[in-house]
Amino acid sequence: MIATDNLNPRQLQCLSVGECPDCGCTIFRPGPRGGLAQNIECVNEKCLARFNVAHYESHMVTAQRIPREREGGGEWREDMFPRVLE
Ligand SMILES: [Zn+2]
Repeated sequence: MIATDNLNPRQLQCLSVGECPDCGCTIFRPGPRGGLAQNIECVNEKCLARFNVAHYESHMVTAQRIPREREGGGEWREDMFPRVLE
């Protein structure tokens, strides 16, 4: 797994097992994706942390934190992204 500048190894481990490293929530909604990369957002309304994760052969290979909607991350329309985190 590739460490990134804004997530520590513990946080990456959380994400790799489908857990939000900020609040422990295990449900994410999907955002934009491209290639191996998938943006996800924690559904906990007090958290709403967003990450860009990349999977290869069903393993998470890298992840990084991206801005929340309220931090300028843009709006993700519910109907635009049918795929959820596996
Ligand atoms: Zn969360």
